[in-house]
Amino acid sequence: MSDASSPGRAPLPPPRKRLGQHFLTDPRILARIADALALAPNETVIEIGPGRGALTDQLRDRAARVIAIELDRDLAAHLRARYAGDARVTIVEQDVLDVPLGSVAGGPYALVGNVPYYITTPILFHALEPPRPSRAVFLVQREVAVRMAAEPGSREYGALSANVQALARVETLFTIAPGAFHPPPSVDSAVVRVTPLAAPLVAPELETRYRDFVQDAFALRRKQMRRVIRTITGWSAERADALLAACGIAPEARPETLSPGAFAELVRRVTSTRDS
Ligand code: SAM
Repeated sequence: MSDASSPGRAPLPPPRKRLGQHFLTDPRILARIADALALAPNETVIEIGPGRGALTDQLRDRAARVIAIELDRDLAAHLRARYAGDARVTIVEQDVLDVPLGSVAGGPYALVGNVPYYITTPILFHALEPPRPSRAVFLVQREVAVRMAAEPGSREYGALSANVQALARVETLFTIAPGAFHPPPSVDSAVVRVTPLAAPLVAPELETRYRDFVQDAFALRRKQMRRVIRTITGWSAERADALLAACGIAPEARPETLSPGAFAELVRRVTSTRDS
């Protein structure tokens, strides 16, 4: 297939900042991102934000089917023309947050995206809604990658870490300097692999409560857990202490030291007390 600037094709629109458009051009980096998915030739892969199609080309050579979701109307038109006649590639012109990924895939799927940084977190959580991908590879701001993978007790550990890690394993694979993009973003980027857990730490019906609880707890990250529980539930100090003791958590512990599993246990117990 010829490249994006082939003669006879409508000129590409200039990058739109508003849509987080920073295009990757280095074929070695693009290949490393695609390789990180370890696609089998019979697999379906969904790509978020294909842009000009640089990563799409790599995916098409490795998978049976590529479903590429692009919001920008001009780029979607460009991609439709670029892949016309290639039955392996389907272009969906839509906001990815409005696309039910599992139903569009129609079966097991892998997910990948050099995602627009202005909506990274909503995209991450959208990607973790069931039916989840078998694995996902995202190019995100380096700082976001660090927070996603951070361990309890570290400076970067926060609500994003506990929320993602309750549902998936996160690995930071490699970093990419701004100069690899056109136009260069103002921050470093990193590639992360997110592998949904076979047994998530939180049951699907408790996911929203878990996320709210974790968010509320980290809003009080300087407070001790006794205070955190009392603030979130409105319970007495005795009741809060009894809950924490049942979960094996010291009343003086701070939220930033609690593992995703400990948060999950707290939410389970608070919910079963409330609902009983
Ligand atoms: N994959 C390309 C690459 O690596 O060169 C482009 C990546 S660029 C950082 C992000 C892409 O996501 C852009 O093409 C942008 O138009 C698209 N995009 C932005 N917001 C989107 C949304 N809500 N849904 C789908 N695509 C979106």
